[in-house]
Amino acid sequence: MSNEKLLQTIKLVSVIGITAGGISLGLLIPKIGFDHLSLSKQPIDRHSKAHNQAVTSASAQAAAPVIKTEIPKQFQGQTIYQAKLNPNNKVVALTFDDGPGPKNTAQVLEILKKNNIKATFFMVGMMVKNFPQIAKQVAADGHVIGNHTWHHWYRRMDVATAASEIERTADIIYKTTGVKTTLFRPPGGFLHNGLADYAKSQKYAIMMWSDESSDTQRREQPSALVKNVIKGVKPGAIVLMHDGGGNRSRTVQALPQIISDFKAQGYKFVTIPELLEMQSQEQSLAVASPVTTKAKPENQPSH
Ligand SMILES: [Zn+2]
Repeated sequence: MSNEKLLQTIKLVSVIGITAGGISLGLLIPKIGFDHLSLSKQPIDRHSKAHNQAVTSASAQAAAPVIKTEIPKQFQGQTIYQAKLNPNNKVVALTFDDGPGPKNTAQVLEILKKNNIKATFFMVGMMVKNFPQIAKQVAADGHVIGNHTWHHWYRRMDVATAASEIERTADIIYKTTGVKTTLFRPPGGFLHNGLADYAKSQKYAIMMWSDESSDTQRREQPSALVKNVIKGVKPGAIVLMHDGGGNRSRTVQALPQIISDFKAQGYKFVTIPELLEMQSQEQSLAVASPVTTKAKPENQPSH
């Protein structure tokens, strides 16, 4: 393993926003989130290329815990659905999309705090703009923040629009929380509308999920959400839930049970960067083992 560190120039982002008349957010796929917001249309902004460095900024609140947001180089620019871990390594990453929201995000934060769990929040830029205090609280509580675009559009877009969607969001997350994120989750999980390509070009890790709560489906009751998440979960799973984009009271209701069911199965909770780091470490241990030696039952090298 090299000690090579990512040293990228962090360029200033200048974003000039021009807001035009309001339109409703297109809901091409009703099962996927964001079903309540009437959003303003944002024409392509002029912007400069920006950072995607993965450090917590010194401008973050002094009292805030250090949040590990850097990810191993092997994952930069990659699309990831889950971590590939030893089956004994029972960890999962809870992720919450589409916030920060005015009510449900705070409720989720309270539950996570009570259980001493750190999670990963994929935030929508315009929501951060609307609810900066809640975004700050997410960071202050020690959770990881990822980029989920400014408008949560699904449609195909050109490079300039995709860049604007991602850079404006990176910019407001940074200005609001002091976090420079390297994690990107495409709205609706759409990988071919231009957003993921742009994010890859900026070395974001494209973070999909392996375990779906289906909490955006209106017919699903909290008990069903619990079942959806728990059934078939595997070590290294990334669980998709929502704290914004609609009324997520069912998610809030289901969350304590989801957590206790995971705990009962021996699972621990990690953030996405921690999850990726675990995979990276397991792989480097495997590489470090002498090839001529027979596989040992334990993965710890004896010399
Ligand atoms: Zn979303």
